Amino acid sequence: MRDLFNLRCEKCGRDNYVGDKNKRTMPEKFKIKKFCAACRSHQSHKEQKISKG
Ligand SMILES: [Zn+2]
Repeated sequence: MRDLFNLRCEKCGRDNYVGDKNKRTMPEKFKIKKFCAACRSHQSHKEQKISKG
């Protein structure tokens, strides 16, 4: 089973990407450096839960 999550820019707080992972093999929070269009530079993006409803 895979879980979807947003990748949020730590600098401006925008959700720029959607990722998915297997919670059983990757229980810790996902963090990755990606390009943020709002910051116009590479920033750390952190996993955020997608709120449903
Ligand atoms: Zn940003």
